[in-house]
Amino acid sequence: MWGVVAFKGAEEVVRRVHKEKETVLNWSEKIKTKYPTLKVHVYSCLQATEPPTDGQAKKNQLWCPYCVEYRKFKHDGTRLVCPVCEVSTEDFYTKRYNKLFGKVKT
Ligand SMILES: [Zn+2]
Repeated sequence: MWGVVAFKGAEEVVRRVHKEKETVLNWSEKIKTKYPTLKVHVYSCLQATEPPTDGQAKKNQLWCPYCVEYRKFKHDGTRLVCPVCEVSTEDFYTKRYNKLFGKVKT
């Protein structure tokens, strides 16, 4: 499964998922063309990707293995989640790639 999400500032305005990456990339292009001011992101719902070996998270950022980007995770009340794909720091790969085992309270 793949997802596309569009933000207007911090507000999420579109979120759609589909099993084909091609379809989601097409949606992403359409949204970008129609609404050039929105920030559009594509992510994988299932496939976790390792951070680049020379990658470096900026302050307060974590590696998001599903967006394949460093992102600032936000609190949703109980957990830290990626604002784009909504994976939390409870996720195995998020923990693993950010070396969070034992560090983040569950
Ligand atoms: Zn993400």
